[in-house]
Amino acid sequence: MGEWSDYFEDFPEENPANWVKENPVNGVFATIIREQEKGKLRLKKNAELNTMIAKAKRETKARSLLVVENCPQCGLKELNTYKITESFYLCECQECGIYGNGKTHEQALARTQDALGEGLDWRAR
Ligand SMILES: [Zn+2]
Repeated sequence: MGEWSDYFEDFPEENPANWVKENPVNGVFATIIREQEKGKLRLKKNAELNTMIAKAKRETKARSLLVVENCPQCGLKELNTYKITESFYLCECQECGIYGNGKTHEQALARTQDALGEGLDWRAR
């Protein structure tokens, strides 16, 4: 597990112990680690791992798209809301990158509005 320890030292925000509870989107990463521990996957590089995480997140989002609305920041109808679980909603603007999450659609939208002007971009996380 040396590789994983090194990885988590560099990217503590990716450690499943830190975030599975608060962000189920990232739960896909925990699955990847379990599969790797069982020997089903061999990951050589962080780049390869990051590609897998990005792919898993994309697939989760594709399954979970709830509605597309007008973005509070850029005004374009590019704000995707994903219902990842019954109590985890995620808003992400496909144009300007602003985002927010919450236990309800309303809360996720409100947090997205609260982030106006903060320069957030979910693609840069
Ligand atoms: Zn926007």
